Amino acid sequence: MSYKPTEKLITYCKKWETKIGAFTELQFAGEHASASGGLQLTSLSNNKPELSSQAKSLIANLPFAVKDNIAVKDFLLTCGSKLLADFRSPYSATAVQKLQAQGATVIGKTNMDEFGMGSSTGNSGIQKTNNPWDYSRVPGGSSGGSAAAVAAGMVPFALGSDTGGSVRQPAAFCGVVGLKPTYGAVSRFGLAAYASSLEGIGILADSAARTRAVFAAIRGKDPMDDTSSDPPDGAPPLYGNNTAGHGTGIIGVLSAEAVAKALADSAAETAELEPEIRSGLLLAKERFAALGFKLVDVTMPALKYCVPAYYTIAAAEASANLARFDGIRYGKRPDCADNHNDLVNKARDAGFGDEVKLRILLGTFVLRSGFQDRYYLRAQRIRAEIKNGFEALLGGSYNAAQHNCTPRMDAILLPVFPTRAFDRGPASLSPFAQKAADIYTCCANLAGLPAVSFPVSVEGGLPVGMQLMGRAFSEGMLLDMVDSYESAHPFPHPPGFKAFWNSAPERIR
Ligand code: GLN
Repeated sequence: MSYKPTEKLITYCKKWETKIGAFTELQFAGEHASASGGLQLTSLSNNKPELSSQAKSLIANLPFAVKDNIAVKDFLLTCGSKLLADFRSPYSATAVQKLQAQGATVIGKTNMDEFGMGSSTGNSGIQKTNNPWDYSRVPGGSSGGSAAAVAAGMVPFALGSDTGGSVRQPAAFCGVVGLKPTYGAVSRFGLAAYASSLEGIGILADSAARTRAVFAAIRGKDPMDDTSSDPPDGAPPLYGNNTAGHGTGIIGVLSAEAVAKALADSAAETAELEPEIRSGLLLAKERFAALGFKLVDVTMPALKYCVPAYYTIAAAEASANLARFDGIRYGKRPDCADNHNDLVNKARDAGFGDEVKLRILLGTFVLRSGFQDRYYLRAQRIRAEIKNGFEALLGGSYNAAQHNCTPRMDAILLPVFPTRAFDRGPASLSPFAQKAADIYTCCANLAGLPAVSFPVSVEGGLPVGMQLMGRAFSEGMLLDMVDSYESAHPFPHPPGFKAFWNSAPERIR
């Protein structure tokens, strides 16, 4: 079964694409529809989990988009880099194969910050992408193309990757749902690695119900990725009656004041919230309280060190992961070179953008022999501290007796980014401020915890998003909370939006 796009949808998508440039490649002809051949998963039983007919109806026979660092057989796999501008993948990622097995069809690859490094999609070496709410603004990043395509109604859902916020932040900028699953809950097989210990494939979708259905289809242990795992016993079911998720739960709120206190005396003070984000956080708090949830204020002093720890670890891992792009194994080979080193240098110099070069330099610097203790190992100690801090609030692993502390709350509500979608002109956020702003998102990656961002309001014509973070493998409960919220406060759409596939998706619990 493959999806056949109607002429109306094709015209609609082409019109949007000329305005926003979300895709690095858009294929309506369906010639890639059965692109599930090539290197196959070894466990077919795990390839196609049994979904309820309602969940299946939110995926089957529908088009979807895939971030251009996730492999789809015969499609481009540029990773947003000039170095890979012509590279096509010989196989599909596990998550893609699993969605194809449910009857969904890839219609294109989406633009991104080069190798996932950035917060605006402006670091793409391929093209610019605009925010569907305001074409002069960025869609966020690094999964900006996926977020823009979903927000514009070109596809009902898309895959992205989240290493430090790259699914949740563009989702917030474009007014869609963005799920960063627990580390290892979704196979990374077929995801081009940036910082392997922090990242995973995530979901951008038009509703909580569809996000849940896509997650149900792609999650689980994969023999092709040893870090992947099934949910432990005792984790909240993805479909079930999680009462805490439906109004009886306790939500900790990381208020603007708590964040400001954590940031005091730190370089990260540039991450202060703009007024519209502050009021969005208060609004979400009030609305969850009105739905019956108990809201309590929390603090997290270790937050202050999140950004330096994140950039140290991410750059270190990136410097190793990107070594394969040398013009020999992968990447465009220069026309002439004097020797091996010259060839590699020329290929990398011509292919990589400035941000990627900066991070490779930073990564090799923090890993220099004799200096590891000062930077890399220190960052790992901070990471452990952050993980402990969240475990003290939320509880640890569901099935590990040694972590049997009683959780004080079911989820933590916090902003996604200190601003709404920013301008790409002179009023843009500086590269330093963009990095400092990762404080709200990269903590979930350091701790390996799930988090979901969702639209709360529209201020000055731009969406405001908030996120809920939870205990490892608590996606079912987090999505219940977002679903409760969405039932009472339906999500907005940009002017010109039309959902071709159906009317509002049915909510399933
Ligand atoms: N802003 C983060 C960075 O530049 C986002 C990374 C990501 O999640 N891929 O590293």
